[in-house]
Amino acid sequence: MTDKTSNPIESLSMVGPSYARKLRKLGINTVEDLLHYYPIRYEDLTLLSNDSPLIVGEKVTLQGTVSQVTNIHTKSGKTLQKTILHTQEGINLPISWFNQPYLTNTLRPQTNLIVSGKLTEYQGRISLQSPQYEIIKSSKPNETIHTNRLVPIYPLTAGLSSKYLRTRLAPLLKSLTNKLEWLPQSILTQLQLIDYHLALQQIHFPTNQKLFDAARYRLQFDELFLLQLYAQLQKSHRSQQHTAHNLTLTQSQHQRFIDSLPFKLTLSQIQSCEEIRQDLAQGKPMNRLLEGEVGSGKTVVAAYAAFISLIHKLPVVLMAPTEILCQQHARSLDQFLAPFGFVTSLQTRSSRIDAQKAQLVVGTQALLHRDLPSSIGVVIIDEQHRFGVNQRAMLAQKQALPPHILSMTATPIPRTIALTLYADLDVSIIEDMPHGRKPVKTWVVPESKRKSAYIWLQEQIESNQVQAFIVCPLITESETPSLDEVKAAVSEYENLSKNIFPSLRVELIHGGLKSKEKQSVLDRFAKHEADILVATPVIEVGIDIPNANIILIEAAERFGLAALHQLRGRVGRSSTQGYCFLFSSQKQIPKRLKHLESNHSGLALAQIDLETRGAGNLYGTQQSGHIDLKIATLTDQALIHTTYEQAKQLIKLDPLLKKHPLLKTKLKTHLEKAIVPN
Ligand code: ADP
Ligand code: MG
Repeated sequence: MTDKTSNPIESLSMVGPSYARKLRKLGINTVEDLLHYYPIRYEDLTLLSNDSPLIVGEKVTLQGTVSQVTNIHTKSGKTLQKTILHTQEGINLPISWFNQPYLTNTLRPQTNLIVSGKLTEYQGRISLQSPQYEIIKSSKPNETIHTNRLVPIYPLTAGLSSKYLRTRLAPLLKSLTNKLEWLPQSILTQLQLIDYHLALQQIHFPTNQKLFDAARYRLQFDELFLLQLYAQLQKSHRSQQHTAHNLTLTQSQHQRFIDSLPFKLTLSQIQSCEEIRQDLAQGKPMNRLLEGEVGSGKTVVAAYAAFISLIHKLPVVLMAPTEILCQQHARSLDQFLAPFGFVTSLQTRSSRIDAQKAQLVVGTQALLHRDLPSSIGVVIIDEQHRFGVNQRAMLAQKQALPPHILSMTATPIPRTIALTLYADLDVSIIEDMPHGRKPVKTWVVPESKRKSAYIWLQEQIESNQVQAFIVCPLITESETPSLDEVKAAVSEYENLSKNIFPSLRVELIHGGLKSKEKQSVLDRFAKHEADILVATPVIEVGIDIPNANIILIEAAERFGLAALHQLRGRVGRSSTQGYCFLFSSQKQIPKRLKHLESNHSGLALAQIDLETRGAGNLYGTQQSGHIDLKIATLTDQALIHTTYEQAKQLIKLDPLLKKHPLLKTKLKTHLEKAIVPN
């Protein structure tokens, strides 16, 4: 028999066009998709042991033969099917179903049956109502699929039942040949992985816990291994194929840049700069992710990359998600580049710049639709996850050579995960903060202490001339604020300015404002013409106002820890002590928030998020659109590591997978589904 797993789902018997449509809704297009449509849980419907008593309310599975099924019409116009199950132990259990008149035909007297359901009391007798049932044809009751075993339950859409899927899957799994294995034997042996076919069988119809665990491990391995393989292949291809501007930097040019800085670079900054300097001088396109917490000083590293390109008279483009961020970037980059006479221009909705004369252009993604310089040296992207394959392609158009790309993110993703998630990137991580930075003192404040917090805040502002942010609740985690969010911010602002802090200068900024208005609010705040800035969470990133050293966050429980850490990174940006107050809108303040009081590492907090909220909630990866894990998790560092090493070994021996054609095919079909270009 040939491999039929790539066939469309309709090729299975009993899958007509209408069912195929429903299956497609679940992403099941091919036979293989069905095989990898894993149960969300298993119901333990193993047979009740002989001597167990029948207890009302308990779920049981029993085997026996049925007597005649009778069909009764009820007053409400329904039908009721009744019979008695006779077990070997001498139990005679009444069973009934609703509206299944055909049962009088399917369940002839003496039919051997396994039933599973909850015991109820009906008219003084213990009975089973609407149990699941399965007819036992063979003498081997362990071949059942709906009862008498760990029964798979699937995540489903309307019109499909787990029973339907089980009925399709069981014969399919049986009919598959054993020639499906695509992992190299050496890996199977080394890691003692079970065979692919067995793994599929066991994930759907586990025989026992041990085999189930082995199956799950094997399939988790597969998923991460394929990703790792893809990531590493991408990297080796990139380094082999394309040529790019070769941008070297002499030691004296390097020194001039370093000497021009108003501070001493941290070790991580120096290392990141060095990695970039090497990348740019390879004649191959750089594709590097620069990861560092808020305030860790990524901008100066980006400026260094820009500097190298500008030295070579090649323009630089920086893209950031919002106009506010663009303004901020333009300002801070200009500070580092102006001393060399390089001009930074901001492209906004209203302004137009001469693309062919520009040196450093800063703008949002709208830039991609504008006239861009034709030989860009370096593209810098702030917040990498919002920049996908399509944008990359748009950017590459009209460029003689592919530009070098530096992506920046404050999302604290552990390195191993970053390498897995962002397949085709190299990663630099800024791990240390600039000298003299003190961790932001953080408190989770119960509602009863809100008043005293406000009083303290006012005192600080009045006696120390500091400024504060008050962040309104997060309502939707989208880029653009919802109307509700704007409304919440406006009413919070009114309450604070009129009732709480009437003697202070309170300003409001939210995503609903025009970009000019936002800018003037920020400018006033930066010039200390306001004491408190009430803000929606979406505008948080990238605002750099050293004199603001207090932040108060409402409804903190709606954020992940890493996101809160990011927010509090807005303060404590100078050598003065920063303070962060977290309020909760829930009576029971979630314990998780307490971590912020003692923990000041974005990476560690992200790890806690990963463990408490799951990978889907890992800050920033949600929108990454990069991968869709079905069974493995990004919390599984050990397996991430194992698969990384295995992929590395394999590619070293067989860089083009010539000796592993099955693996190559698998990789291709798997990735078409798993890697969603964004
Ligand atoms: P982020 O990584 O959040 O983009 P920035 O680049 O905005 O951080 O840097 C935060 C602040 O720290 C800026 O005011 C910047 O000038 C300053 N800074 C950056 N690196 C250093 C350093 N090595 N020593 C002192 N201050 C630094
Ligand atoms: Mg920044």
